[in-house]
Amino acid sequence: MKSDRILKVAVNAPLPRLFDYLPPPAATASPGCRVRVPFGRQRLVGMVIDVADASDLPRQKLRRAHSAIDDRPLLDHDDLWLIRFTSDYYHHPIGEVVAAAVPALLRQGRPLLATRSVLRLTEEGALVDLAALSKRAPRQAEILAHLDGAVSFDALDRTLPGWRRTKAALIDKGWVQVDEIPDDPGGDGGESEAAAGPTLNEDQRQAVDAILAGQGFRTTLLDGVTGSGKTEVYLRVMEETLAAGKQVLILVPEIGLTPQFVERVRRRLGRAPVLFHSSLTDSERLSAWRRARSGDADLVLGTRSAVFVPLAEPGLIVIDEEHDASFKQQEGLRYSARDLAIARGKRLDVPVILGSATPSLDSLSHANRGAYQHLTLESRAGGAMAPLLRLVDLNRHDGEDGLSTPLLTAIDDHVGRGGQVLVFLNRRGFAPTLICSACGHIAECRRCDSRMTVHQAEGSLLCHHCGATRRLDSTCGQCGAACVPLGQGTERVEETLKSRFPQHVITRVDSDSTRLKGTMDRALAMAVSGEARILVGTQMLSKGHHFPRLTLVGVVNADQGLFSTDFRGGERLAQSLIQVAGRAGRERQQGEVIIQTAFVSHPFWHELLAGGYHQVARYTLAERETAGWPPFSRLALIRASAHQRQHTWEFLEAAAEIASAAIAAAAPGGSVRVLGPVSAPMERRAGRYRGQLLLQSRRRQSLHQVLSAIARELEQHACSRRARWSIDVDPIELF
Ligand code: ADP
Ligand code: ZN
Repeated sequence: MKSDRILKVAVNAPLPRLFDYLPPPAATASPGCRVRVPFGRQRLVGMVIDVADASDLPRQKLRRAHSAIDDRPLLDHDDLWLIRFTSDYYHHPIGEVVAAAVPALLRQGRPLLATRSVLRLTEEGALVDLAALSKRAPRQAEILAHLDGAVSFDALDRTLPGWRRTKAALIDKGWVQVDEIPDDPGGDGGESEAAAGPTLNEDQRQAVDAILAGQGFRTTLLDGVTGSGKTEVYLRVMEETLAAGKQVLILVPEIGLTPQFVERVRRRLGRAPVLFHSSLTDSERLSAWRRARSGDADLVLGTRSAVFVPLAEPGLIVIDEEHDASFKQQEGLRYSARDLAIARGKRLDVPVILGSATPSLDSLSHANRGAYQHLTLESRAGGAMAPLLRLVDLNRHDGEDGLSTPLLTAIDDHVGRGGQVLVFLNRRGFAPTLICSACGHIAECRRCDSRMTVHQAEGSLLCHHCGATRRLDSTCGQCGAACVPLGQGTERVEETLKSRFPQHVITRVDSDSTRLKGTMDRALAMAVSGEARILVGTQMLSKGHHFPRLTLVGVVNADQGLFSTDFRGGERLAQSLIQVAGRAGRERQQGEVIIQTAFVSHPFWHELLAGGYHQVARYTLAERETAGWPPFSRLALIRASAHQRQHTWEFLEAAAEIASAAIAAAAPGGSVRVLGPVSAPMERRAGRYRGQLLLQSRRRQSLHQVLSAIARELEQHACSRRARWSIDVDPIELF
């Protein structure tokens, strides 16, 4: 008999390798199937990634898998490829990549096709005299009386809590039986008539033609100002893909999955997209995953993690607002869904469309080099005009609580003419600082190097970094004098506007005001209908929305972004300003945007006002090229933190040493630079001391060789047990 082949299995453990097992008794398992395996003293569900003839371990040391779960693979070759690619590229344990790619219920060993337990009356049970029974065993009678056909355990839990204690007795008597029935809710509503869209304008037509002219994989950057009709372009291309019997995967930022957008897709394509995002329950998630995998769902719309969803007949991948930071996961497996989507598109040989009014400099530079097809939509569709931008110099104008006189006058003016106003600032709470009026003492977080934010309505001080909270005191803990809130948050701006414009409905939208389920939808509905005349909000309001009556956007304070220590500061600021400005004047009325700044002569403003986002982008790209920052080099950041500063530093110094040795061994002269270690700008957070080491290279290959050495050697190093650490490849936040 041919000897057993060896299963290379990924298990959900933070160890950067596969584990070898012999196949389960009297069974085989091919790549993409789940198996139950012994792991130390535990019993885990693992995913077979590969099957091989050899192992590094002697055969007699190999343990045997307990059992196979799937008789056919859950994941196909392309899905497995994506998992391996992700693990290699991000230097992250493969078991944790599987965990990101496969729904929790499947990782717990549930069957792919979920079943539901139901309780069913037997023939004998149907003959029981309930009246007589209810005298002896009222609980049993009650349950039998309730069984009309098969009733699910879930339903019984709701109507007859505690019924499970009586189940065994009923089964013993042969009156009921337990069955497992397939539980697939299937599609919701199926297909309906697709509504025709507007006639495309010339630019849109050309964009659609250019995308459809391609065959197979090609990345297209659809670079169109806000409201230029990019979504119409995607919809046309999607229509063609669906008509060809293929599936479409659309990735949107966390904030972009609005009911408005989903409804628009449904209406235009005549079918409800299957949604895939972080607030689904485990069983909804499994159901969406299964429907995408089987091809039953031909339209899958999701946030970041949807990039891993298996597709039976992939035909197109669309990434809307590709510049958005939420495509990058910032903890655990630090992947970029945009970058993985492109890699996946290449592997599957399907076109990838990246859309944005403010493309990332990474994507622009690919387009400039000709690696992406670059299509532009220069003007707003449907006749709306571009909004006018203007600066207000905070050094020259007084105002009330951070709102300058020119801004207040403009608000009055727009609202008076029937328009709607959005006042934007990226800071929730009442004020970012609480200061003593006598001694100048500032309320700080006890666990972080940061200030506490004043949340007036709740009467509390809250640390936005670690979540610590304490009671808001009106007097200083040091000297007893009165404390005053300093600076503006959304809560304070809302209060100022309410006292100034008492006759109008003012709605605030930030993560505090929308914590309760349904409040976000209600606030958005009021914004869309125009009932809310003045909107105050953070970035939650600044992206993607279409408020037909909005004519004025006021940006309370943009200056933090001007002096960011991160080299991406300027890019971020330009994106967020252009996105929020893009909410103004989307229909007939000319939109106006007023930005308050104390630094009117900063060159950033000159570029932005003179040439818009693309001028800022050109200027910033030139700067990055000179300095050798991305996209002209590649970065990886090694972060560490520990309760004792010393442990953080020991770890980072060891990492730097390994990096230097690897660099010396690989390429003398070294094309990889090691910068640091340095402590993080906010060194202490939630009681941990944080530091980091930055690796930079013009060559991706060299950087990855060094990272492999670091990942491998640090794993074994004693110092790695005293610090929490991570590798972030292509980091988008340097601090
Ligand atoms: P974007 O995705 O670039 O922000 P949208 O596709 O949402 O732009 O279009 C902005 C607005 O213009 C929408 O109300 C849309 O219905 C409308 N629109 C788009 N294309 C056209 C067109 N060719 N003719 C008329 N209206 C259009
Ligand atoms: Zn804190």
